Amino acid sequence: MTFTILGTAAAEGWPALFCPCAACEEARKRGGKDIRRRTAYQLGDRIHIDLGPDTYAQMLEFGLRYDRLEHLLITHSHEDHLCPAELGYRRRGFAVALPEDAMMTIYGNEQVEARIRAAGLELEECKAQFQRTRPFEPIDLGEGVTATPILADHAGEEEAVNYVLEREGRTLLQGNDTGWWPEESWEFLAGQTLDIAITECTYGPKPGGKHHLGVHEVLEVRDQLAKLGALASDCRIVTTHFSHNGGWLHEQLCEFFEPEGIEVGYDGMKLIL
Ligand SMILES: [Zn+2]
Ligand SMILES: [Zn+2]
Ligand SMILES: [Zn+2]
Repeated sequence: MTFTILGTAAAEGWPALFCPCAACEEARKRGGKDIRRRTAYQLGDRIHIDLGPDTYAQMLEFGLRYDRLEHLLITHSHEDHLCPAELGYRRRGFAVALPEDAMMTIYGNEQVEARIRAAGLELEECKAQFQRTRPFEPIDLGEGVTATPILADHAGEEEAVNYVLEREGRTLLQGNDTGWWPEESWEFLAGQTLDIAITECTYGPKPGGKHHLGVHEVLEVRDQLAKLGALASDCRIVTTHFSHNGGWLHEQLCEFFEPEGIEVGYDGMKLIL
């Protein structure tokens, strides 16, 4: 099943909306892998992760069919990961031929639910229902796919999560907006054999803060996962969630990561789960 990375930028995109910094100007000039949209992923036709401000543009760019979605997993309520208003376009009058019995389940924490409710949407009218996630409790997504939310250290009091997806014995870790995972999450990961580990790299060459990582912390995450025996021998480690504040363009990130056997993510990158 194809897992597509639909966006690899931090909150403001890269080039950032209103930013003329050197890294943004260079990205505008180079285009291609240096154009980074806000975070989202899609697994097959039915499963999508996060619904940020680039949701519509990603549908066009990557030929997606959101009318076929059955499961929408939200990592946390930050605005680069959740734009509740977009859900309103599933209502009658906007999605005129969406089948009467279509139903999309949205998964998320308390704050995700609160932001969706605050948008004033009747989920029933959107042919959607909400299911609260509980850290480390697996969610059955049908067709042999499960998603288990693990706790991130990212959004203060909010229970921000990352998802571990499994299908037919293969395992993928979706790790943007992680911070340094709390102990329970490392313990959970110690029991996994990851075939694909996506890890965030918001700050590029600059030191990571409390809620995001930079290139050096990516290496620490890789080493910690290896120490815990959580990586399959041919595990692909892929970086994402880059901010222009880091300054390194795709090429420079590749120069740093290639000798480490780590791949630099880009919008439209396809992986197999
Ligand atoms: Zn983010
Ligand atoms: Zn900039
Ligand atoms: Zn965030």
